Amino acid sequence: MTAPGGSPPLHRPMKVTIGYTESCNLDCRVCYADCARRPSPRELPAATWIRLLDEFFEAGVISVMIEGGEPLHRPDVLEVIAHAAPRAMTRLRTNATLVDDAMAARLRGIGLGDAMVDLLGATAATHDALTGVAGSLERSLAGIRALRRAGLPVTVLVIMNRLNHRELQPLLELAQAEGAEAVGVLRPYPLGRLRRDWAALSLSLEEMTAAIAALRPPPGLRLMQSWHPNDANCCWQMAAVNAYGRSIGCMYLREYVDYGDVTAMPFLETWEDPLYRHLRAGKVEASCAGCASTQHTHGGCRSTAYAFHGRWDAPDPFDAGLNGGVDLRALPPLPVPAGRPPHAP
Ligand code: SF4
Ligand code: SF4
Repeated sequence: MTAPGGSPPLHRPMKVTIGYTESCNLDCRVCYADCARRPSPRELPAATWIRLLDEFFEAGVISVMIEGGEPLHRPDVLEVIAHAAPRAMTRLRTNATLVDDAMAARLRGIGLGDAMVDLLGATAATHDALTGVAGSLERSLAGIRALRRAGLPVTVLVIMNRLNHRELQPLLELAQAEGAEAVGVLRPYPLGRLRRDWAALSLSLEEMTAAIAALRPPPGLRLMQSWHPNDANCCWQMAAVNAYGRSIGCMYLREYVDYGDVTAMPFLETWEDPLYRHLRAGKVEASCAGCASTQHTHGGCRSTAYAFHGRWDAPDPFDAGLNGGVDLRALPPLPVPAGRPPHAP
């Protein structure tokens, strides 16, 4: 373990994530957005997003990720994708339940780059129990098939938790059979509904690393995972705006930071917020010695470091080399950022 030197300075964002809506047609127990069935009237309309995107493109953004909630739960997201796709690599994170052949062809036609589809299990028993909606696995798989028929690359994402960690290998095989290029096994974050369900759904670090180590991706399928050594501190390059127009740096910081209202001030003013600058600088208390020079982990993810330690510069306890005896199943009370009002309505 060593004290790292910090992240490369970036004067403009290269990537932006848009949290398009906090509404969804599913009720996942792991939902970080704590989605409602209907979008709030306070969510930004498509025309505002298009104006904001132009500001981002002028600032140099070359990659746009659109997520939610379920972005396709608000059909006007298609206008935003159509505006973004000719100007930047544009990706969509979706549960795919609202994708039929016509929607997939439309997404392809307006230039979507690829789709990231969340599945929560390899069986309906597990997936539907976690989404709270019977038949949702079948509908997501039908959506993946439609996306593939339209020629769109698909990456399957799965948030690992206590109910699905024993069926990750079948999930890899299912994803490959459905034509996915990759599966991303994602660490659980104590946010939204998953924070409230943490006692039932969380795993120890040992359980999660053992589950990852046991995976054997089928031929042709790329496996991605967000534990060591892929748990880099990527705050240095991130920008994100939530459904209400608040600049929050990263969707995983959604409950902790608020850098300002990008509908009332230029985004680049929020980029200069002292906390935002501090997180981008990557000056952390400790980092993995090997990775500080090779993988640039810079102490791992700031969201989980803050959730478990209440300090922005603390080590990320999801990293085995930095865990320091933290039991990831024992979540401390929500840290309250000093002087920062909650951004969500
Ligand atoms: S599909 Fe995604 S957005 Fe919808 S409830 Fe589940 S986690 Fe939330
Ligand atoms: S909070 Fe974590 S995932 Fe988000 S940008 Fe920072 S290090 Fe990356």
